[in-house]
Amino acid sequence: MHHPNIWKPFTILKDAPDPLRIEEGEGIWLTLEDGRRIIDCISSWWVTLHGHSQPEIGEAIYRQSQKLEHVIFANYSHRPAEELAERLTARLPGDLSRVFYSDNGSTAVEVALKTAWQYWKNIEKPRTRFIAFEGAYHGDTIGAMSVSSRSVFSEVFSELLFDVDFVPYPDTWLGDTTAEEREERVLNQLAEMLDSEPETYAGVIIEPLVQGTAGMRMCTPRFLKSLERLVRERDNLLIYDEVMTGFGRTGDWFASTRSGTEPDIICLSKGITGGFLPLSVTVCSSRIYDAFNSSDPMHTLWHGHSYTANPLGCAAALASFKLLEQDENAFLKLEEIHLREVAKLAETVEIERPRVTGTVAAFTLPVSGEGGYLNQVADRIKAVCTDYGLLLRPLGNEVYLMPPFCITEEELSDVYRQLAKLLTDLNMK
Ligand SMILES: *Cc1c(COP(=O)(O)O)cnc(C)c1O
Repeated sequence: MHHPNIWKPFTILKDAPDPLRIEEGEGIWLTLEDGRRIIDCISSWWVTLHGHSQPEIGEAIYRQSQKLEHVIFANYSHRPAEELAERLTARLPGDLSRVFYSDNGSTAVEVALKTAWQYWKNIEKPRTRFIAFEGAYHGDTIGAMSVSSRSVFSEVFSELLFDVDFVPYPDTWLGDTTAEEREERVLNQLAEMLDSEPETYAGVIIEPLVQGTAGMRMCTPRFLKSLERLVRERDNLLIYDEVMTGFGRTGDWFASTRSGTEPDIICLSKGITGGFLPLSVTVCSSRIYDAFNSSDPMHTLWHGHSYTANPLGCAAALASFKLLEQDENAFLKLEEIHLREVAKLAETVEIERPRVTGTVAAFTLPVSGEGGYLNQVADRIKAVCTDYGLLLRPLGNEVYLMPPFCITEEELSDVYRQLAKLLTDLNMK
């Protein structure tokens, strides 16, 4: 039943299938109201790192709640926010040293865009445009939507969005031999844009290694290295939206560390508290911070949220951080299993463009026809996955797995077996 008082996100309201009520979560498992159990193959909304209801994080939140649940973060500070900032910056690459707190991925991106924009104003070289990538998804607030690929999500608001220049995302897959050439083309295009209008662009924003909402499209570390060099040589700003790729997802702490690259600004959110509480950070280099470190109110970043640096969120993030440090191999280990299982899957089911980065595996289902049918594939899978004991949410005809890191080798192999069965059965109908 649809609840009479709830308006669901990302849901075409009329005729939407009834949502399944979840009673409990433990580890990779979710228990439905009727007692059935399913494996969360996508870490909820890509946020759950150590499994559902992880006890240490729960306890850390409780302990913090009995000490200090919240305090205004303007003239006041607290240890959890300071300690988290210390730990984060110690793990982040290079000079990313100043942590700005907010509470979701979209606002982390808004802060990044506003910071980049104002940076150029503060140093008296104002810039007017951003460069982003085709297929990008950076969130649902107006600024984040503006730098996202235009889609049905943003169509209604098109007149409200600011203009952005988009370049292709050179996505690749296992066995692809065309990537390098496509990367070259994108880099040439970017170089031309930045060289022909050196005073126009305020920054380049990218989802490094994996474009999430676009359908888990993956690019090479080599491309990011070249991109970093290109932007740096032109003294422009590189913004990494690691809202989805942060905290182990790509097989290392961050896509930046995995690829050996370093942005000027990084946005982190989804996995930051292990999936327990909303929290996000935008971390920038000292070069950027220094441009704001002034007594001039016009040089101040006038931005903040009521729940900025919420102590409970910070405590959850610290507990999650500790768990990640205890088992850094967990995320790389999943990559090996994915690689093996995806290859096996390709032997029994017809799939295209198989691809794996860290804990994320994806492939394309071959479909005839276009949009409507694509959605139909996703809807058909969503409608039956519970019967196979799985929580799946394909993006059009892109099917992906990104389980919590606590999944065992055996469990993940089981997921692939069930997925193969589901896809085979669907094809027969
Ligand atoms: C989910 C996501 C966002 C938006 O985060 P919210 O917390 O949903 O606002 C931004 N960027 C990327 C890459 C994301 O995956």
